[in-house]
Amino acid sequence: MKHFLFLHEFYTSCAMIKLIIYQSQKFKKETIMHILIIEDEEQLCRSMAEGLRMDGYETDTCFDGEEGLELCMTENYDLILLDLNLPDGSGYDFLKTCRSQSDIPVLMLTANDLEINEVIGFELGANDYVTKPFVPMELLARVHAQLRRHLRYQQLLEQKQEVEDILGRIQG
Ligand code: CA
Repeated sequence: MKHFLFLHEFYTSCAMIKLIIYQSQKFKKETIMHILIIEDEEQLCRSMAEGLRMDGYETDTCFDGEEGLELCMTENYDLILLDLNLPDGSGYDFLKTCRSQSDIPVLMLTANDLEINEVIGFELGANDYVTKPFVPMELLARVHAQLRRHLRYQQLLEQKQEVEDILGRIQG
């Protein structure tokens, strides 16, 4: 009986290791991330999109929160760059609606400390922020950090589910 239990644990561990290797390979193949940029300063919007594309990301751009919400309904984004200070004030609405529906990482593009206080202090739900003007490297570093964190979280959830499925099959 002891031997059987040992073997059972051994095979379970092997299954988990195989699963983790499989997941990390799958992750490497499928990591073209899709980023939505909502920013009304066209020049800045274009240059951010270009920088992110050169870094291997797919990007969509729009100039207000309403269009951003419409895009979010049809596309599956991995991260959103959001300028809160949009001419029609729709950045706030976007963030509130977005947060009530999804845990996608949102990186704010803020113009000053007052905005940062509103975003972070009042817990509108942004994950991080960059204050304008920023250098491209700073933006990329923050994008990478948010995506890594979010992916790790999603992978852990998936792995947990698959391990539970495997254990269910072994035990059942
Ligand atoms: Ca703006």
